[in-house]
Amino acid sequence: MEKKYNAYENALEVLRGAAEQAGYKHDEYVTLEYPERELKVSVPVVMDDGSVQVFEGYRVQHSSLRGPCKGGIRFHKDSDIEEVKALALWMTMKCAVANIPYGGAKGAVKVDPAKLSRGELQRLTRRYTAMVLPLIGPEKDIPAPDVNTNAETMGLIMDTYSMLKGYTVPGVVTGKPVEIGGSLGRSEATGRGVMITAMQLMKKLGMQPENTRAAVQGFGNVGSAAADLLAKQGVKICALSDVSGGIYCADGLDVSKVRAFIAAEKGRFLKDYTIDDVRHITNEELLEADVDLLIPAALENQITAENAGKIRAKYIVEAANGPTSVEADAILTQRGITVVPDILANAGGVVVSYFEWVQNIQSLMWEEKEVNRHLKEIMVRAFEEVWTICKEKQVTMRMAAYMSALKRLITAKHFRPIFP
Ligand code: GLU
Repeated sequence: MEKKYNAYENALEVLRGAAEQAGYKHDEYVTLEYPERELKVSVPVVMDDGSVQVFEGYRVQHSSLRGPCKGGIRFHKDSDIEEVKALALWMTMKCAVANIPYGGAKGAVKVDPAKLSRGELQRLTRRYTAMVLPLIGPEKDIPAPDVNTNAETMGLIMDTYSMLKGYTVPGVVTGKPVEIGGSLGRSEATGRGVMITAMQLMKKLGMQPENTRAAVQGFGNVGSAAADLLAKQGVKICALSDVSGGIYCADGLDVSKVRAFIAAEKGRFLKDYTIDDVRHITNEELLEADVDLLIPAALENQITAENAGKIRAKYIVEAANGPTSVEADAILTQRGITVVPDILANAGGVVVSYFEWVQNIQSLMWEEKEVNRHLKEIMVRAFEEVWTICKEKQVTMRMAAYMSALKRLITAKHFRPIFP
Protein backbone atom coordinates (compact mmCIF):
# COMPACT_ATOMS: atom_id res chain seq x y z
CA MET A 1 0.00 0.00 0.00
CA GLU A 2 1.15 3.50 -0.78
CA LYS A 3 1.99 5.43 2.39
CA LYS A 4 -0.08 8.52 3.16
CA TYR A 5 1.01 11.31 0.88
CA ASN A 6 2.87 14.16 2.53
CA ALA A 7 3.88 16.83 0.01
CA TYR A 8 6.87 18.08 1.98
CA GLU A 9 8.31 14.62 2.59
CA ASN A 10 7.81 13.93 -1.08
CA ALA A 11 9.69 17.12 -1.99
CA LEU A 12 12.52 16.30 0.44
CA GLU A 13 12.93 12.81 -0.94
CA VAL A 14 13.44 14.17 -4.44
CA LEU A 15 15.80 16.90 -3.23
CA ARG A 16 17.94 14.44 -1.26
CA GLY A 17 17.95 11.94 -4.11
CA ALA A 18 19.27 14.55 -6.52
CA ALA A 19 21.85 15.91 -4.06
CA GLU A 20 23.16 12.40 -3.39
CA GLN A 21 23.29 11.48 -7.07
CA ALA A 22 25.17 14.70 -7.79
CA GLY A 23 27.64 13.79 -5.05
CA TYR A 24 27.08 16.70 -2.66
CA LYS A 25 27.91 16.35 1.02
CA HIS A 26 24.93 16.71 3.36
CA ASP A 27 26.39 19.90 4.90
CA GLU A 28 26.30 21.54 1.50
CA TYR A 29 22.53 21.26 1.10
CA VAL A 30 21.23 20.71 4.64
CA THR A 31 19.87 24.29 4.90
CA LEU A 32 17.63 23.59 1.89
CA GLU A 33 15.89 20.84 3.85
CA TYR A 34 14.37 23.48 6.16
CA PRO A 35 12.21 26.49 5.28
CA GLU A 36 13.80 29.72 6.52
CA ARG A 37 10.53 31.04 7.98
CA GLU A 38 6.98 29.76 8.50
CA LEU A 39 4.08 31.98 9.48
CA LYS A 40 0.65 30.67 10.42
CA VAL A 41 -2.13 33.24 10.70
CA SER A 42 -5.79 33.31 11.72
CA VAL A 43 -7.92 35.25 9.29
CA PRO A 44 -11.28 36.41 10.69
CA VAL A 45 -13.93 37.40 8.16
CA VAL A 46 -17.30 39.02 8.78
CA MET A 47 -19.59 36.94 6.58
CA ASP A 48 -22.51 38.40 4.64
CA ASP A 49 -24.99 37.17 7.27
CA GLY A 50 -23.10 39.05 10.00
CA SER A 51 -21.49 35.96 11.57
CA VAL A 52 -17.70 35.65 11.96
CA GLN A 53 -15.66 32.82 10.47
CA VAL A 54 -11.96 32.34 11.13
CA PHE A 55 -9.81 30.79 8.39
CA GLU A 56 -6.30 29.46 8.74
CA GLY A 57 -3.63 30.99 6.51
CA TYR A 58 0.07 30.44 5.91
CA ARG A 59 3.12 32.04 4.34
CA VAL A 60 6.30 30.00 4.13
CA GLN A 61 9.63 31.39 2.97
CA HIS A 62 11.75 28.47 1.95
CA SER A 63 14.86 30.29 0.77
CA SER A 64 16.17 33.80 0.19
CA LEU A 65 19.60 32.55 -0.81
CA ARG A 66 19.47 33.71 -4.45
CA GLY A 67 17.23 36.75 -3.97
CA PRO A 68 13.90 37.83 -2.51
CA CYS A 69 11.46 35.03 -1.75
CA LYS A 70 8.87 34.49 -4.48
CA GLY A 71 5.78 32.39 -4.90
CA GLY A 72 2.03 32.31 -5.23
CA ILE A 73 -0.89 32.25 -2.82
CA ARG A 74 -3.60 29.61 -3.16
CA PHE A 75 -7.08 29.35 -1.70
CA HIS A 76 -7.95 25.69 -1.23
CA LYS A 77 -9.93 23.68 1.27
CA ASP A 78 -7.21 21.02 1.57
CA SER A 79 -4.24 23.39 1.96
CA ASP A 80 -2.10 22.88 5.04
CA ILE A 81 1.35 23.84 6.26
CA GLU A 82 3.03 20.73 4.82
CA GLU A 83 1.67 21.49 1.36
CA VAL A 84 2.75 25.13 1.57
CA LYS A 85 6.26 24.10 2.72
CA ALA A 86 6.55 21.78 -0.29
CA LEU A 87 5.26 24.41 -2.69
CA ALA A 88 7.76 26.94 -1.26
CA LEU A 89 10.65 24.50 -1.71
CA TRP A 90 9.58 23.86 -5.31
CA MET A 91 9.59 27.63 -5.92
CA THR A 92 13.23 27.83 -4.76
CA MET A 93 14.14 25.04 -7.15
CA LYS A 94 12.07 26.51 -9.99
CA CYS A 95 13.67 29.96 -9.75
CA ALA A 96 17.10 28.33 -9.66
CA VAL A 97 16.40 26.14 -12.72
CA ALA A 98 15.14 29.18 -14.63
CA ASN A 99 18.09 31.16 -13.26
CA ILE A 100 16.06 34.15 -12.16
CA PRO A 101 17.29 36.03 -9.06
CA TYR A 102 14.73 34.83 -6.54
CA GLY A 103 14.39 32.44 -3.65
CA GLY A 104 11.18 30.54 -2.99
CA ALA A 105 8.02 31.06 -0.93
CA LYS A 106 4.35 30.12 -0.96
CA GLY A 107 1.17 31.08 0.83
CA ALA A 108 -2.29 29.64 1.26
CA VAL A 109 -5.61 30.06 2.98
CA LYS A 110 -7.49 26.93 3.92
CA VAL A 111 -10.85 27.82 2.38
CA ASP A 112 -13.20 26.64 -0.33
CA PRO A 113 -13.57 29.90 -2.27
CA ALA A 114 -16.62 28.60 -4.17
CA LYS A 115 -18.55 28.77 -0.88
CA LEU A 116 -17.78 32.46 -0.29
CA SER A 117 -19.43 35.48 -1.89
CA ARG A 118 -17.30 38.00 -3.78
CA GLY A 119 -17.43 40.41 -0.84
CA GLU A 120 -16.43 37.70 1.65
CA LEU A 121 -13.50 36.70 -0.56
CA GLN A 122 -12.38 40.30 -0.84
CA ARG A 123 -12.43 40.72 2.93
CA LEU A 124 -10.58 37.42 3.35
CA THR A 125 -7.89 38.54 0.88
CA ARG A 126 -7.41 41.90 2.55
CA ARG A 127 -7.24 40.48 6.07
CA TYR A 128 -4.84 37.72 5.00
CA THR A 129 -2.63 40.43 3.47
CA ALA A 130 -2.69 42.41 6.71
CA MET A 131 -1.78 39.27 8.67
CA VAL A 132 1.24 38.38 6.50
CA LEU A 133 2.30 42.03 6.11
CA PRO A 134 5.44 41.67 8.24
CA LEU A 135 6.82 39.10 5.79
CA ILE A 136 5.96 40.48 2.36
CA GLY A 137 7.39 43.39 0.37
CA PRO A 138 9.05 44.04 -2.98
CA GLU A 139 12.55 43.51 -1.56
CA LYS A 140 11.77 40.48 0.58
CA ASP A 141 8.83 38.34 -0.49
CA ILE A 142 6.59 38.83 -3.51
CA PRO A 143 3.31 36.85 -3.80
CA ALA A 144 1.56 35.93 -7.06
CA PRO A 145 -1.53 33.99 -8.21
CA ASP A 146 -1.84 30.24 -7.71
CA VAL A 147 -4.77 27.80 -7.47
CA ASN A 148 -8.09 29.72 -7.08
CA THR A 149 -6.48 33.17 -6.95
CA ASN A 150 -6.15 35.55 -9.89
CA ALA A 151 -5.28 39.07 -11.03
CA GLU A 152 -8.17 40.52 -9.05
CA THR A 153 -6.86 38.89 -5.85
CA MET A 154 -3.39 40.31 -6.55
CA GLY A 155 -4.85 43.76 -7.13
CA LEU A 156 -6.47 43.61 -3.70
CA ILE A 157 -3.23 42.47 -2.07
CA MET A 158 -1.38 45.34 -3.73
CA ASP A 159 -4.05 47.82 -2.65
CA THR A 160 -4.17 46.56 0.96
CA TYR A 161 -0.38 46.63 1.28
CA SER A 162 -0.24 50.10 -0.28
CA MET A 163 -3.01 51.48 1.95
CA LEU A 164 -1.21 50.24 5.05
CA LYS A 165 2.11 51.69 3.87
CA GLY A 166 0.59 55.00 2.83
CA TYR A 167 1.87 54.91 -0.76
CA THR A 168 1.43 52.72 -3.84
CA VAL A 169 3.80 49.75 -4.01
CA PRO A 170 3.17 47.91 -7.32
CA GLY A 171 6.19 45.59 -6.87
CA VAL A 172 4.76 43.85 -3.77
CA VAL A 173 2.87 41.30 -5.90
CA THR A 174 2.97 40.04 -9.47
CA GLY A 175 0.13 38.83 -11.63
CA LYS A 176 -1.79 42.07 -11.01
CA PRO A 177 -4.27 43.51 -13.49
CA VAL A 178 -2.36 45.30 -16.28
CA GLU A 179 -4.15 48.57 -15.41
CA ILE A 180 -2.40 48.75 -12.01
CA GLY A 181 1.09 47.61 -12.95
CA GLY A 182 0.59 44.04 -14.14
CA SER A 183 2.64 42.79 -17.08
CA LEU A 184 1.27 42.01 -20.49
CA GLY A 185 1.56 38.27 -21.09
CA ARG A 186 1.54 37.32 -17.38
CA SER A 187 -1.91 35.70 -17.26
CA GLU A 188 -1.06 33.05 -19.85
CA ALA A 189 2.69 32.88 -19.03
CA THR A 190 2.64 29.55 -17.17
CA GLY A 191 0.65 27.91 -19.97
CA ARG A 192 2.93 29.47 -22.57
CA GLY A 193 5.97 28.12 -20.74
CA VAL A 194 4.38 24.66 -20.70
CA MET A 195 3.77 24.91 -24.45
CA ILE A 196 7.37 26.04 -25.10
CA THR A 197 8.71 23.17 -22.97
CA ALA A 198 6.50 20.57 -24.67
CA MET A 199 7.56 21.89 -28.10
CA GLN A 200 11.24 21.67 -27.12
CA LEU A 201 10.73 18.08 -26.02
CA MET A 202 8.97 17.19 -29.28
CA LYS A 203 11.77 18.83 -31.25
CA LYS A 204 14.40 16.78 -29.39
CA LEU A 205 12.48 13.58 -30.05
CA GLY A 206 11.64 14.38 -33.66
CA MET A 207 7.89 14.36 -32.97
CA GLN A 208 5.61 16.32 -35.28
CA PRO A 209 3.00 18.41 -33.41
CA GLU A 210 0.34 17.38 -35.97
CA ASN A 211 0.93 13.72 -35.13
CA THR A 212 0.97 14.27 -31.39
CA ARG A 213 -2.09 13.60 -29.26
CA ALA A 214 -2.38 15.16 -25.83
CA ALA A 215 -4.56 15.06 -22.71
CA VAL A 216 -4.65 17.94 -20.25
CA GLN A 217 -5.83 17.44 -16.66
CA GLY A 218 -7.11 20.72 -15.18
CA PHE A 219 -8.75 23.56 -17.05
CA GLY A 220 -7.81 26.52 -14.85
CA ASN A 221 -5.46 29.32 -15.77
CA VAL A 222 -2.56 27.01 -16.59
CA GLY A 223 -4.28 24.01 -18.18
CA SER A 224 -6.59 26.03 -20.42
CA ALA A 225 -3.81 28.29 -21.72
CA ALA A 226 -1.41 25.38 -22.26
CA ALA A 227 -4.06 23.37 -24.14
CA ASP A 228 -5.00 26.36 -26.29
CA LEU A 229 -1.42 27.28 -27.16
CA LEU A 230 -0.47 23.68 -27.92
CA ALA A 231 -3.54 23.30 -30.15
CA LYS A 232 -2.40 26.44 -32.00
CA GLN A 233 0.94 24.67 -32.63
CA GLY A 234 -0.97 21.82 -34.26
CA VAL A 235 -1.04 19.37 -31.33
CA LYS A 236 -4.29 17.38 -31.12
CA ILE A 237 -5.83 17.97 -27.70
CA CYS A 238 -7.94 14.83 -27.34
CA ALA A 239 -8.94 15.10 -23.69
CA LEU A 240 -9.54 17.85 -21.15
CA SER A 241 -10.78 17.70 -17.58
CA ASP A 242 -11.67 19.89 -14.62
CA VAL A 243 -13.15 19.22 -11.16
CA SER A 244 -16.46 18.18 -12.77
CA GLY A 245 -14.95 15.49 -15.03
CA GLY A 246 -13.58 15.38 -18.54
CA ILE A 247 -14.36 15.49 -22.25
CA TYR A 248 -12.76 13.44 -25.01
CA CYS A 249 -12.64 13.55 -28.79
CA ALA A 250 -10.28 11.27 -30.71
CA ASP A 251 -9.95 13.78 -33.57
CA GLY A 252 -9.02 16.60 -31.22
CA LEU A 253 -11.14 19.12 -29.33
CA ASP A 254 -11.73 22.71 -30.37
CA VAL A 255 -9.96 24.16 -27.32
CA SER A 256 -10.71 27.83 -28.07
CA LYS A 257 -14.39 26.99 -28.31
CA VAL A 258 -14.33 25.07 -25.04
CA ARG A 259 -12.51 27.96 -23.37
CA ALA A 260 -15.05 30.47 -24.66
CA PHE A 261 -17.91 28.25 -23.47
CA ILE A 262 -16.49 27.99 -19.93
CA ALA A 263 -15.64 31.70 -19.73
CA ALA A 264 -19.10 32.81 -20.93
CA GLU A 265 -20.82 32.15 -17.61
CA LYS A 266 -19.62 31.82 -14.01
CA GLY A 267 -20.13 28.32 -12.64
CA ARG A 268 -19.81 26.52 -15.98
CA PHE A 269 -17.78 23.31 -15.99
CA LEU A 270 -16.67 20.81 -18.61
CA LYS A 271 -19.52 18.49 -17.62
CA ASP A 272 -21.84 21.14 -19.10
CA TYR A 273 -20.07 21.05 -22.48
CA THR A 274 -22.38 19.13 -24.77
CA ILE A 275 -21.93 21.13 -27.97
CA ASP A 276 -19.71 19.01 -30.20
CA ASP A 277 -19.52 15.31 -30.56
CA VAL A 278 -17.54 14.87 -27.33
CA ARG A 279 -17.53 11.89 -25.01
CA HIS A 280 -17.73 12.61 -21.28
CA ILE A 281 -15.04 10.81 -19.31
CA THR A 282 -13.87 10.60 -15.71
CA ASN A 283 -10.68 12.09 -14.36
CA GLU A 284 -9.13 8.59 -14.16
CA GLU A 285 -10.00 7.96 -17.79
CA LEU A 286 -8.27 11.19 -18.73
CA LEU A 287 -5.05 10.23 -16.95
CA GLU A 288 -5.10 6.83 -18.63
CA ALA A 289 -6.20 8.08 -22.07
CA ASP A 290 -4.57 6.73 -25.23
CA VAL A 291 -2.43 9.79 -26.03
CA ASP A 292 1.27 10.57 -26.55
CA LEU A 293 1.50 13.46 -24.16
CA LEU A 294 -0.11 13.85 -20.74
CA ILE A 295 -0.17 17.28 -19.10
CA PRO A 296 -1.26 17.24 -15.46
CA ALA A 297 -2.25 20.87 -14.76
CA ALA A 298 -4.30 20.52 -11.60
CA LEU A 299 -3.00 19.67 -8.13
CA GLU A 300 -0.35 17.59 -6.35
CA ASN A 301 -0.37 13.81 -6.12
CA GLN A 302 -2.48 12.98 -9.18
CA ILE A 303 -0.14 10.41 -10.68
CA THR A 304 0.27 7.84 -7.92
CA ALA A 305 1.43 4.25 -7.41
CA GLU A 306 -2.20 3.26 -8.14
CA ASN A 307 -2.43 4.69 -11.65
CA ALA A 308 1.20 5.09 -12.81
CA GLY A 309 1.15 1.58 -14.24
CA LYS A 310 -1.91 2.37 -16.34
CA ILE A 311 -0.79 5.60 -17.95
CA ARG A 312 -0.54 5.17 -21.72
CA ALA A 313 1.17 8.47 -22.57
CA LYS A 314 4.89 8.14 -23.31
CA TYR A 315 5.61 11.71 -22.26
CA ILE A 316 4.43 13.73 -19.29
CA VAL A 317 4.91 17.47 -19.00
CA GLU A 318 4.10 18.63 -15.46
CA ALA A 319 2.18 21.89 -15.57
CA ALA A 320 0.96 21.52 -11.97
CA ASN A 321 3.27 21.61 -8.97
CA GLY A 322 4.07 18.16 -7.61
CA PRO A 323 1.53 16.12 -9.63
CA THR A 324 3.61 12.92 -9.44
CA SER A 325 4.36 11.06 -6.20
CA VAL A 326 7.84 9.64 -5.60
CA GLU A 327 6.48 6.09 -5.88
CA ALA A 328 4.74 6.89 -9.14
CA ASP A 329 7.87 8.55 -10.50
CA ALA A 330 9.84 5.33 -9.98
CA ILE A 331 7.17 3.35 -11.84
CA LEU A 332 7.14 5.81 -14.74
CA THR A 333 10.95 5.73 -14.99
CA GLN A 334 10.93 1.97 -14.99
CA ARG A 335 8.29 1.99 -17.74
CA GLY A 336 10.45 4.31 -19.85
CA ILE A 337 8.05 7.26 -19.66
CA THR A 338 9.78 10.63 -19.92
CA VAL A 339 8.66 13.22 -17.37
CA VAL A 340 9.49 16.89 -17.81
CA PRO A 341 9.34 18.01 -14.17
CA ASP A 342 7.22 20.82 -12.75
CA ILE A 343 10.17 22.97 -11.65
CA LEU A 344 11.16 23.27 -15.30
CA ALA A 345 7.90 22.90 -17.23
CA ASN A 346 5.78 25.36 -15.24
CA ALA A 347 8.46 28.00 -14.60
CA GLY A 348 6.97 30.35 -17.22
CA GLY A 349 4.65 31.95 -14.66
CA VAL A 350 7.35 32.99 -12.25
CA VAL A 351 9.62 34.03 -15.12
CA VAL A 352 7.05 36.57 -16.32
CA SER A 353 6.40 37.49 -12.67
CA TYR A 354 10.07 38.41 -12.58
CA PHE A 355 9.59 40.59 -15.68
CA GLU A 356 6.59 42.23 -14.04
CA TRP A 357 8.59 43.01 -10.90
CA VAL A 358 11.49 44.35 -12.98
CA GLN A 359 9.05 46.63 -14.84
CA ASN A 360 7.49 47.76 -11.54
CA ILE A 361 10.71 48.70 -9.80
CA GLN A 362 11.93 50.56 -12.88
CA SER A 363 8.49 52.07 -13.69
CA LEU A 364 8.70 50.63 -17.20
CA MET A 365 6.10 48.97 -19.41
CA TRP A 366 7.19 46.29 -21.86
CA GLU A 367 5.38 45.28 -25.02
CA GLU A 368 3.81 41.82 -25.00
CA LYS A 369 6.05 40.53 -27.75
CA GLU A 370 9.09 41.58 -25.74
CA VAL A 371 7.75 39.69 -22.71
CA ASN A 372 7.09 36.57 -24.79
CA ARG A 373 10.48 36.73 -26.50
CA HIS A 374 12.36 36.92 -23.19
CA LEU A 375 10.16 34.16 -21.75
CA LYS A 376 10.99 31.87 -24.65
CA GLU A 377 14.72 32.59 -24.33
CA ILE A 378 14.73 31.70 -20.64
CA MET A 379 12.56 28.58 -21.04
CA VAL A 380 14.61 27.24 -23.96
CA ARG A 381 17.89 27.87 -22.17
CA ALA A 382 16.67 26.15 -18.98
CA PHE A 383 15.34 23.21 -21.01
CA GLU A 384 18.67 22.83 -22.86
CA GLU A 385 20.64 22.91 -19.60
CA VAL A 386 18.45 20.22 -18.05
CA TRP A 387 18.45 18.11 -21.22
CA THR A 388 22.28 18.21 -21.34
CA ILE A 389 22.61 17.09 -17.69
CA CYS A 390 20.01 14.38 -18.32
CA LYS A 391 22.02 12.96 -21.23
CA GLU A 392 25.50 13.42 -19.72
CA LYS A 393 24.64 11.96 -16.33
CA GLN A 394 22.08 9.42 -17.60
CA VAL A 395 19.49 10.54 -15.08
CA THR A 396 15.78 11.40 -15.37
CA MET A 397 14.83 14.93 -16.36
CA ARG A 398 13.56 15.50 -12.81
CA MET A 399 16.94 14.57 -11.34
CA ALA A 400 18.67 16.69 -13.98
CA ALA A 401 16.48 19.72 -13.19
CA TYR A 402 17.19 19.36 -9.46
CA MET A 403 20.91 18.99 -10.19
CA SER A 404 20.85 22.17 -12.26
CA ALA A 405 19.05 24.03 -9.45
CA LEU A 406 21.25 22.56 -6.71
CA LYS A 407 24.41 23.58 -8.49
CA ARG A 408 23.27 27.23 -8.51
CA LEU A 409 22.02 27.09 -4.92
CA ILE A 410 25.09 25.37 -3.51
CA THR A 411 27.41 27.76 -5.36
CA ALA A 412 25.41 30.69 -3.93
CA LYS A 413 25.72 29.16 -0.45
CA HIS A 414 29.47 28.98 -0.95
CA PHE A 415 29.56 32.76 -1.38
CA ARG A 416 27.00 33.32 1.39
CA PRO A 417 28.23 30.93 4.06
CA ILE A 418 26.27 30.38 7.26
CA PHE A 419 25.87 33.52 9.36
CA PRO A 420 27.40 34.25 11.85
N1 GLU B 1 2.04 30.16 -8.63
C1 GLU B 1 2.96 30.09 -9.73
C2 GLU B 1 3.91 28.94 -9.55
O1 GLU B 1 3.62 27.99 -8.85
C3 GLU B 1 3.65 31.42 -9.99
C4 GLU B 1 4.50 31.96 -8.88
C5 GLU B 1 4.99 33.36 -9.09
O2 GLU B 1 4.78 33.92 -10.15
O3 GLU B 1 5.60 33.90 -8.15
O4 GLU B 1 4.95 28.88 -10.15
